[in-house]
Amino acid sequence: MSDRRIYVVLLGVPGAGKGTQAKLLEQSTGLPQISTGDIFRYNLKNQTELGKLAKSYMDRGDLVPDEVTIRMVQDRLQQPDCVRGAIMDGFPRNLVQATAFDTMTAPYGGVRVAPLIQVEDDETIRRITGRRSCRTCGAVYHVIYNPPKVEGICDVDGGELYQRDDDKEDTVRNRLFVYYKQTAPLIGYYYAKGLLREVDGAMSIEAVQQALLAIVVG
Ligand code: ADP
Ligand code: ADP
Repeated sequence: MSDRRIYVVLLGVPGAGKGTQAKLLEQSTGLPQISTGDIFRYNLKNQTELGKLAKSYMDRGDLVPDEVTIRMVQDRLQQPDCVRGAIMDGFPRNLVQATAFDTMTAPYGGVRVAPLIQVEDDETIRRITGRRSCRTCGAVYHVIYNPPKVEGICDVDGGELYQRDDDKEDTVRNRLFVYYKQTAPLIGYYYAKGLLREVDGAMSIEAVQQALLAIVVG
């Protein structure tokens, strides 16, 4: 195929480390991270129509409707920085989105690989409750595991670090429920296509990154 692109679908429970790893992969491969969560949060902050629509779903920890999400990803993939492919972080999130993504990417060779970052549930909770995000650039920290140089301030752009509203306990519980019900079936979906690769997400951020790089580039 002449126009073969590299589409990587990162899988893993909320808090597994997808965003952290996607940002590092972006730096080392030059493929852009496409985080649907980040795009929704950007729209929420700027009070766009999309943001207003997504708000109630995100507050509850439910998925934003597929039609809206799929259209948003389609638009994003047409941006010039996606000509070599993309690192998908948080999309697809259910089987409808996965089949839509296959259709979108079919002209470019489809999904290249789907790494699954595996982490135990109690570690996931520890990671989510300690997560802090930059208000301006979206960089992700952890109060214990990956603290910024100066407390409350982003190393990258000096932005304010905050705890996401949906990282509070009630919403986290629902997000995990939604993950097991709607997103976990994607593991079987990509396994059946021979694209699933399991990575031990309990390792350090650097060790997980090395394992992922070997999968994506190797
Ligand atoms: P996801 O995008 O899958 O929800 P994040 O990348 O936002 O996950 O990571 C969740 C939290 O866990 C963040 O606070 C991040 O700093 C921390 N974290 C990510 N990877 C690791 C790791 N390998 N070890 C320890 N903490 C991690
Ligand atoms: P996490 O990194 O902790 O898994 P995300 O940042 O990916 O969380 O997602 C936050 C919220 O944004 C989700 O709970 C959901 O409401 C919405 N969202 C993100 N991606 C999608 C998607 N692909 N489909 C529907 N809703 C999504």
